[in-house]
Amino acid sequence: MKSIKGKTAIITGASSGIGEAVARKLASEGANVVLAARREDKIRELADELKGSYSAEVLAITTDVTSKQDVEDLVKQTKEAFGQVDILINNAGVMLLSFLKNDMVDQWEQMVDVNIKGVLFGVHSVLPGMLEKGTGHIVNISSVAGHEVMPSSAVYSATKYAVRALSMGMEKELADTPVRVTNISPGAVETELPSHITDEEVQDLFKDMLSGVKPLDSVDIAEAIYYALSQPDHVDVNEVIIRPVNQG
Ligand code: NDP
Repeated sequence: MKSIKGKTAIITGASSGIGEAVARKLASEGANVVLAARREDKIRELADELKGSYSAEVLAITTDVTSKQDVEDLVKQTKEAFGQVDILINNAGVMLLSFLKNDMVDQWEQMVDVNIKGVLFGVHSVLPGMLEKGTGHIVNISSVAGHEVMPSSAVYSATKYAVRALSMGMEKELADTPVRVTNISPGAVETELPSHITDEEVQDLFKDMLSGVKPLDSVDIAEAIYYALSQPDHVDVNEVIIRPVNQG
């Protein structure tokens, strides 16, 4: 296993759920972590907790990933503090499931902006520096919804298929470079994610879909990400699909 001690990792969407768990895991393994999300109070609180628990350096930088300028500033501030970005976890995302007939166009736009453009702005902001330094690992969080489409998940799935397409393209284009790319596709994980759904028809459907399924914990995903990050240099973990045992 390769150590990530002393490496610098940016985690988008670090204010809750999977991003928060990844931040804890990477800090516990000795990485410098940069927490990025819109809720400043949450990332500041997490930064204080991590600084108190581990020897790692932690920064909290308020970031809206739909803003190219914000993401460029996030990377600039990280480089000013730590010199370079070794790891980017493109995790920020929203899952605003709705039926197409209900025409929630503003939510479609938000999902495209956060889930696709947010990932692209991250890649844009770190990849040239990683190629120049000859080291780097980008982890994109897709979903099992990036492998399958359910009623109400058309737009969310479209964004998560797009994330996988970007990961696959990057893997091919970067195969001869030292930069690694990993796509993680989680199934149901217990987080705040579904709490933002406003389509009432979907709220009921979603509960039915997952009845009898015990969702994963965010820590399960953090462990999968750490597995990919800690492989020796000759190993390239391209895709991990991880779901609860009884989620079909
Ligand atoms: P959470 O809702 O707990 O976390 C989502 C994170 O994204 C929050 O930290 C939120 O922070 C951040 N975020 C949302 N919009 C923006 C924005 N515009 N700019 C910056 N950050 C933003 O859900 P999860 O932890 O579950 O989600 C993390 C990722 O995992 C997402 O990409 C999701 O699609 C994916 N996923 C989750 C699954 C699940 O079952 N939970 C299954 C498959 C994939 P803030 O609001 O502070 O900005």
